[in-house]
Amino acid sequence: MAEELSEIRKRMQWFINEVVIPDEPVLGGDDEDAAGAVAEQLKRRAKDEGLWALGHPAEIGGGGLAFLDFVLLNEIIGRSHWGQLAVGSLSMQDSIMLHRYGNDAQQQRWLDPLVAGDIYPSVGLTEPEVAGSDPTLMEATAVLDGDQWVINAHKWFTSGANRAAFTTCFAITEPDADRHAKFSAIIVPTDTPGYEITRVVPTMGHTGGGHCEVNYRDVRVPADHLLGRRGEGFVVAQKRLGPGRIFHCMRWLGQAQRAFELMCERAKTRRSHGSTLAEKGEIQRYIAESAAEIQAARLMTLDAARVLDAGGEARTEISLIKFWGARMLHNVIDRAIQVHGALGVTGDTPLEFMYREARYARIYDGPDEVHRMVVARRLVRDPVNGVPWA
Ligand SMILES: Cc1cc2nc3c(=O)[nH]c(=O)nc-3n(C[C@H](O)[C@H](O)[C@H](O)COP(=O)(O)OP(=O)(O)OC[C@H]3O[C@@H](n4cnc5c(N)ncnc54)[C@H](O)[C@@H]3O)c2cc1C
Repeated sequence: MAEELSEIRKRMQWFINEVVIPDEPVLGGDDEDAAGAVAEQLKRRAKDEGLWALGHPAEIGGGGLAFLDFVLLNEIIGRSHWGQLAVGSLSMQDSIMLHRYGNDAQQQRWLDPLVAGDIYPSVGLTEPEVAGSDPTLMEATAVLDGDQWVINAHKWFTSGANRAAFTTCFAITEPDADRHAKFSAIIVPTDTPGYEITRVVPTMGHTGGGHCEVNYRDVRVPADHLLGRRGEGFVVAQKRLGPGRIFHCMRWLGQAQRAFELMCERAKTRRSHGSTLAEKGEIQRYIAESAAEIQAARLMTLDAARVLDAGGEARTEISLIKFWGARMLHNVIDRAIQVHGALGVTGDTPLEFMYREARYARIYDGPDEVHRMVVARRLVRDPVNGVPWA
């Protein structure tokens, strides 16, 4: 690892461990105003420390770190659920999407404040009535009326819509086209008349994730709010999701590593039946299996990143890490909870929050089964060269 990157990683490690993690109880607490104020302080501090938006391209105001370098940094950012909010990488996928597909007006309006962390984006693909696993089933429509799109849709799980400045809504604009060319991406400012957040959907007993149900009733936006070309919605979504899944996996590694450290610490200090938990064979198995799964997921994720960075699509590699990484995360946190006993399911450690987030990881951005299906279909066609190793 280059010396400069190693230095940035050290400083990021300090920032996440010493500055962000101590504020987690407030950031994840019920007092939204207090959480918001602390988030703003952290964002200012990250900017002062030169740790803000390091992975965004330099030409849009980011730190311009190379993709692979940012992937390595992201594991550290991921140690805290609020790491990406604090250091400005939360909007990275949307900023890159706007940078790549946005027209001048869109970029001028949204890009600067996104990169600065002054506004937040959201994405509306999933609909309650049809399987989100198969986006070609999407029913939302957008019809051009003069120089305006008229959108009608019922979306849910539009994460963060309740604080977002805009949602990139995916809708059918080309009903007669091939099923992958029917959809377009359209930017909808959240204050547009007819765009209504009907509820923040409680997930596993909590509303803090901001997963919103949204109705679009004759929502009108100017024709130039189209992101990319007509019928190019899937391409735009895929370009967002591919690197995004690699970023997710690296953040999951940060979460898993933190749970692993908590598990080891507890195992060393808790005594039962004449010895510490760390001396019990069963607990040693949890530790060893967790270490193996973390390291395997790390190497697989770096491999996927390497293929993508070299210009490949990395479809198989990304699907492999999406289901493998999510399961690794779930397993490691589950074992850490087990080793903590009753303490593990309380809010007195970060584990129960991490566990809920880990459960979601096996569903969002495509459930495990769909990624396994993608991998199997591709490898059956070419089992020898399907996952090349160079
Ligand atoms: C925490 C969280 C955040 C999210 N954020 C967003 C967001 O910001 N924007 C957004 O648009 N969406 C978001 N989503 C939605 C997410 O992308 C969808 O939940 C996901 O695509 C699955 O769609 P679905 O829920 O409709 O499940 P379905 O498609 O109904 O699938 C249900 C289950 O069926 C099984 N299944 C489906 N297809 C297959 C198959 N081919 N083979 C075998 N089994 C199969 C799987 O077990 C799957 O879990 C979020 C979801 C969660 C949980």
